Amino acid sequence: MNGHCLCGAVSITTPATTEMGACHCGACRRWGGGPLLTVHCGPDVGFNGTDQIAIYPSSQWAERAFCRQCGTHLYYKLLATGEYFVPAGVFDSADFELGSQIYVDKKPAYYAFANQTAMLTEQQVIAQYAPPGDDAAG
Ligand SMILES: [Zn+2]
Ligand SMILES: [Zn+2]
Repeated sequence: MNGHCLCGAVSITTPATTEMGACHCGACRRWGGGPLLTVHCGPDVGFNGTDQIAIYPSSQWAERAFCRQCGTHLYYKLLATGEYFVPAGVFDSADFELGSQIYVDKKPAYYAFANQTAMLTEQQVIAQYAPPGDDAAG
C-alpha cells in the first residue's frame, strides 16, 4: 500500500493489510487532537524522503514520527518489535476495518465510535505490550 504526507515530501510503502485500530490514550489524543486511528503495518515499511522525517521518542518503548515540512503524523513505532502503526489517513486506500480499540478506559466522554470492535483497557494493553515497570501510554 502507498501513502504520503500532506506536502508530499515523505511517502510510505507498506505490505497490504486491512487491519486498523484506534487508541484513545491521552498521549495519542494530545499528539493528534483526537483518537489515533492506525493501520497495523508490521515491520516491513519503506520510506522516501527520510531526511524530512522527524522522530519523537514518546516513551521508553515507542517513537512517533512526523513530516518536518507539513507536520503530518507518519507513524507510531514499537521499538521492541519494529512494528509500524501508520495513521489511516496517510494512505491513498481507505479499505480498512476497525478491529480494535485500546485504552478504552482513557477515552473522554465527548465522543464514541459505533463500530463493534475488541475493547482493551490500559491494564490489558500494558499486560500485552509494555515491559513491566514502565509508565502507561506513550
Ligand atoms: Zn509533508
Ligand atoms: Zn495511544
